[in-house]
Amino acid sequence: MFEKRLQTLRTRFEGLGVDTVWIIQPENRRYLSGFKATDGQLTESSGSLLISLDRALLLTDPRYTAQAEQEACGFEVITYREGVVNALPELFDRLHIRKLGFEAAYLIWELHQKALEKASQHAPAIALVPLSSLVEDLRETKETQEVEALSTSAQLMSAVLTQVIDELRPGQAERDVAWRIETLIREHGADGAAFPPIVASGPNGALPHAVPSDRTLEEGEPIILDVGAMVDGYCSDMSRTVFLGEPMADFKRVYMIVREAQVAAMESIRPGMKTADADSIAREIITNAGFGDFFGHSLGHGVGLATHESPAVGPLKPKVLRDGMVFTIEPGIYLPGKGGVRLEQMVTLEDGKVRILTGNNNFYSF
Ligand code: ZN
Ligand code: ZN
Repeated sequence: MFEKRLQTLRTRFEGLGVDTVWIIQPENRRYLSGFKATDGQLTESSGSLLISLDRALLLTDPRYTAQAEQEACGFEVITYREGVVNALPELFDRLHIRKLGFEAAYLIWELHQKALEKASQHAPAIALVPLSSLVEDLRETKETQEVEALSTSAQLMSAVLTQVIDELRPGQAERDVAWRIETLIREHGADGAAFPPIVASGPNGALPHAVPSDRTLEEGEPIILDVGAMVDGYCSDMSRTVFLGEPMADFKRVYMIVREAQVAAMESIRPGMKTADADSIAREIITNAGFGDFFGHSLGHGVGLATHESPAVGPLKPKVLRDGMVFTIEPGIYLPGKGGVRLEQMVTLEDGKVRILTGNNNFYSF
């Protein structure tokens, strides 16, 4: 599996004008090597990969050597003690590097400057070549076992959410519901939550990325639950909007518009479709109903080792959807001061059409 991914990666080297790539982004690192360590924070690294046409090295410090040797079986593990940059000059020679590609979106400026200094001191000087989306593009189309892992993650999340919705009562605080979600995710055997659960009741639901607060749930208001689990490194992401008791009148209509937009998108999206056109299917329905200004985000996003990954299902980063992609379909309407409705399904494209991974439960039809 990893060997095949490396081979695919290497076929791109010539076109990119590089002979070796330096991979530092944690999910990209895991995708190519199997090394599961995460980076504690932006200025910390648990390691990086150096991949040439015939060599695959994992560079790390003594804290991670044993883990790297165990998890990244196809990689030669190199342990550095004085930072990765000081290990580079020797590796430039060992791998006969001339043009080293790096991940432009992730290599922080200070580290880049230090690497550049080593590269230019080398005789002959080594070129550092900025690359974009190199591994992200490979990760877009999932292998069969990845779709299975994502499906498992989605089903686990779906079961947890059904239980949480059954337990919801007026008077519960958002943050207590969020904690219940996190607890159940663990109890069901996931690695943990893929991201902090969103529980946004009433007016808080107008903020697409609201943080759970002490606010208590009230009857009739829309309550957005946006949750995801991580299973074997693979994320899920789904949202439901629920009401306790009889929904406030306006929100029945808002809910049905969002649901109609979502169902239309799930029924019409096909491989070969541009992401902008996929987005338009849902957006037109919401716009025609008069709520276009209140749907401020794109229709969805890819899901995999990261909760948000390529392709973005919208007009901003144009892509063509393909069989094997896994992404969300999550239209929403957010009314400032009042509340919001978001409905999010995680789907894959399979045999030319959408297959839903998150189950079809906990929807209303008013
Ligand atoms: Zn979500
Ligand atoms: Zn999402």
